[in-house]
Amino acid sequence: MKRVYNFSAGPAVLPEEVLKEAADEMLDYRGSGMSVMEMSHRSKVYDEIIKDAEKDLRTLMNIPSNYKVLFLQGGAHMQFAQVPMNLMRNRKAGYIVTGQWATRAYKEAQKFGEAVELASSKDKTFSYIPDCSDLPITDDMDYIYICENNTIYGTVFHELPNTKGHILVSDQSSCFLSKPVDVTKYGIIYAGAQKNVGPAGTVIVIIREDLIPDEVTTHVLPGTPTMLMYKTQADNDSLYNTPPTYGIYMCGKVFKWLLKNGGLEAIYKKNVEKANMLYDYLDNSKLFTGTVVKKDRSLMNVPFIVDPKVITNDEERAEMEAKFIKESKAAGLENLKGHRSVGGMRASIYNAMPKEGVIALINFMKKFEEENLK
Ligand SMILES: *Cc1c(COP(=O)(O)O)cnc(C)c1O
Repeated sequence: MKRVYNFSAGPAVLPEEVLKEAADEMLDYRGSGMSVMEMSHRSKVYDEIIKDAEKDLRTLMNIPSNYKVLFLQGGAHMQFAQVPMNLMRNRKAGYIVTGQWATRAYKEAQKFGEAVELASSKDKTFSYIPDCSDLPITDDMDYIYICENNTIYGTVFHELPNTKGHILVSDQSSCFLSKPVDVTKYGIIYAGAQKNVGPAGTVIVIIREDLIPDEVTTHVLPGTPTMLMYKTQADNDSLYNTPPTYGIYMCGKVFKWLLKNGGLEAIYKKNVEKANMLYDYLDNSKLFTGTVVKKDRSLMNVPFIVDPKVITNDEERAEMEAKFIKESKAAGLENLKGHRSVGGMRASIYNAMPKEGVIALINFMKKFEEENLK
């Protein structure tokens, strides 16, 4: 068996230990005689799996009791709609547009009410986080929306925006559980599992209880499907219908892996160390350069390019990048190609990427630099 270092932005690397455990339990989950995939979501044994997952997530993130944890489906994209459908009581919300996912959320919200762009970093290809200390927020805005870590562009809100007392909704898909967070600062945190916590198919929503609208009185959109009302799943512990059972099981295992390894403080330290190594190398490289304003750099997604100051010809530069991607793949470093919308390269170094993987990448880049820099 050969495992590569997988720098994919998502679905992404999972802890090897977790995968092995799942493999061991594949045919017979702890004496049940069946795989978790084959199990009723109403069974006692599955109930323990989902309850444990919730309990461990609450411990990891120190989630207060007035917040619900929901395991849903439909990916982050479904939340782009579900958030406004449930929260737009005044039919108005503020969006901070810092990349492709924030743009999609902002556009989706326009179907349900007035989505106001409060700030944007589009002018410089989303390479920074705009100043959010004094945004033009009006009293009637139901919430302020951010995409906290921009998976494609590699920026992150190191500091949360000043929402002027309004509810903050955050898409944490690509930074979920990468560092300790103060949940009380948010109305909703949501995250698609496939970036940092599990297989695709599960989305985790952490929502303050008082924001869950009653289906008749305060619900925004008449005709909202039952499945898209937070209340439906909140009242049924995410078991109104069949949840993504196997995905939740895998997320639960990752939560236990994090707890066993010292929780979010410990993983944060490791993430800072990994990211610093890579950024330090990029800052000193004669061939490669990062694309993001230093103060807004993500710990999870590191985009970089061949420096246009070194290779000025666009075609030559594109050739050099293609060569890098091809040769890195041959060296067991997978999925370093940048997002199709921006090109270049991107190394996603989520929780489960071992430090050794980052070192291997840096060593490969050094070697490539030596061989290709004239
Ligand atoms: C990947 C990603 C999305 C899209 O997720 P889907 O599960 O494909 O809907 C949205 N937001 C962020 C921050 C992401 O990284």
